[in-house]
Amino acid sequence: MTDKFALLKNKRKRAGRDFIALGISASAILMFVGIGSTVVPEIFKNWFGLGPGPDLMLVNALLLNIALILFGWRRYSELLTELEQHQMAEENARLLAETDVLTNCLNRRSITPETDALINHSNLSGKHTAFIMLDLDNFKQINDCNGHQVGDLVLKTTAQRIRAMLPDGSLLARLGGDEFACVVSFDPSYKGRVDQLVNRLIDAVSMPIQTGELQVEITISAGISTTEANSSPATGALDAKCLLHYADIAMYHAKKQGRNRFFWFEVGMEQQLRLRNELEAGIRKGLTNGEFVPYYEQQVDLHTGHLAGFEMLARWISPELGIVNPDIFVPVAEEIGLIGDLSDQLIEQALADASQWDSSITISVNISPVQLRDPWFTQKILKSLVKHNFPAQRLEIEITETRLHENLGLVSSMIISLRNQGIRISLDDFGTGYSSLSQLQALPFDSLKIDRSIVADLARGKEESGSKIINAIVSLGDGLSIPITAEGIEDEETLERLKKMGPLKGQGYHYGLPETGEEVRARLTKLGRYRNVHAAPSEAPVPGTQAEEAHTAASRRNT
Ligand code: C2E
Ligand code: CA
Ligand code: CA
Repeated sequence: MTDKFALLKNKRKRAGRDFIALGISASAILMFVGIGSTVVPEIFKNWFGLGPGPDLMLVNALLLNIALILFGWRRYSELLTELEQHQMAEENARLLAETDVLTNCLNRRSITPETDALINHSNLSGKHTAFIMLDLDNFKQINDCNGHQVGDLVLKTTAQRIRAMLPDGSLLARLGGDEFACVVSFDPSYKGRVDQLVNRLIDAVSMPIQTGELQVEITISAGISTTEANSSPATGALDAKCLLHYADIAMYHAKKQGRNRFFWFEVGMEQQLRLRNELEAGIRKGLTNGEFVPYYEQQVDLHTGHLAGFEMLARWISPELGIVNPDIFVPVAEEIGLIGDLSDQLIEQALADASQWDSSITISVNISPVQLRDPWFTQKILKSLVKHNFPAQRLEIEITETRLHENLGLVSSMIISLRNQGIRISLDDFGTGYSSLSQLQALPFDSLKIDRSIVADLARGKEESGSKIINAIVSLGDGLSIPITAEGIEDEETLERLKKMGPLKGQGYHYGLPETGEEVRARLTKLGRYRNVHAAPSEAPVPGTQAEEAHTAASRRNT
């Protein structure tokens, strides 16, 4: 602030001085003309011997005038140079303020006015404007794993690749972090060209980037909005701010749909985003308020009809939304990194409930593959088992087949470490993924669960194909000595068909809907299989066991 003030004062002083110099030079020119018109003819007359020489005072005054004019001229040239430098400095400052230094693209500040100008220009020539928001999918990971230098190189290369693809007159900006925006005008009759352009951008950006020994691969998600007022007037965004907002929503949608793809903005997306944000906030709140509770579904030996165990299924008792099923909240909890905490809470409650059941009854819990990346996962489970004095052999962990391949190496070592503790592992939704025989042999599962979509075929007039698949799975289980459970048994007919196929366990709405802990307690009490022993939660495991070691390790971590 002080510097600015001093600069201003300085400028004012200089302007004052320049004004005086201008006055002096102007008067010097006037005096030069006045004195010169008297002195110069007298000098010539004297040269040719026609009269006496000029008055010495007047000659001196003339010389002084000449000196003053020269001084004025120099000051004028200096002023011109100063002005040029000032203009250049202003231009540089403007460029810096409007440009992203790393990539030389426009920045978030300048893209809005530039887009508005392009929209006006396009409108005049009957064209429309498309705003393309681009976001790198795995940039944070690349930056974290390889350092900022590699991160910077990725950003610079991405900018170059995008720039090379854009038609003349388009805009390219880096909005911050790993987010870019392109603005292009297009002929409304060739809207498909925007799709082609974005497809080419996605392909170009995903080409590997080589730096020394390292090869980096990155993908990009894109959202597009347009000034075109199409069938739904609400999607016709008219100014830059609106276009940016809509393209952002569409880009976010592309991320949710699996990344490395693009979407045009549609009205429904905004609503979806709002719901999703509400869901996210609700999950955070619900977790602190203990709104997530375990429900239990019976697992039955199909031949004897004997209750063998329960599968714990999470429910969110939300004060705003009512009872919410896991298909809605589990993916969101995974995304926002809360699935581990959520699962810990549920498993704690489930073990507390199950420790009151007859010791022949098992409990299965579903876990998300994200949890298998947690190096402390086994320790946490063991700690809960110890706390509730619950034998590891009565606990089964279900891993969904479709997501088994996300990190096979980690999954396999985690399975081994859990099994070493006596916990059983089952492959859930079997038949929907791509497990090969060799994988099934390599990953030591304790049971397979036939997906309910396959079981449903038995009752849907596709009996032949349904029973062929189930028979194949049953013989596979037989060959690998792995017991099989059939999910989703909804009626007596399906049950009877399954019974003929082999020694299966089964579960499904035929045996009743999933029940609360209280309802299970009532059911087991009737069956005489509720122990009702309020076993004091034991923190001390049996000495010398692996569980004890785990308990000690976990306690050490928590202190
Ligand atoms: P899943 O493990 O395949 O669970 C079975 C799902 O099928 C449950 O849905 C259950 O209510 C439903 N179901 C059971 N019997 C029948 C039937 O006869 N017919 C039909 N149509 N459906 C039946 P739910 O509870 O909505 O769970 C959906 C999925 O959410 C589960 O599929 C499981 O993968 C996941 N999930 C549940 N609880 C948790 C959890 O605590 N953690 C994690 N990570 N995932 C969970
Ligand atoms: Ca399951
Ligand atoms: Ca299942």
